[in-house]
Amino acid sequence: MRKYLQDSRERPRKEGFFYECLKCGDILPSIGKNSRCTCHNVLVDDDYGRVSILDPLAVRSFEEVI
Ligand SMILES: [Zn+2]
Repeated sequence: MRKYLQDSRERPRKEGFFYECLKCGDILPSIGKNSRCTCHNVLVDDDYGRVSILDPLAVRSFEEVI
């Protein structure tokens, strides 16, 4: 199941943690590779170890827990 993070200002990067763009519906893993969603709202920059979000209100983040 998905455990959603309540405080959207936090940008954790760890195994099993994902960012979901509500504009285009893409889900990006928070670590492991450079990736960006279809509408470019969310950018995971693995080289620099950061997550950039243009519109935080259109993003949810969650941890996949068993
Ligand atoms: Zn998007």
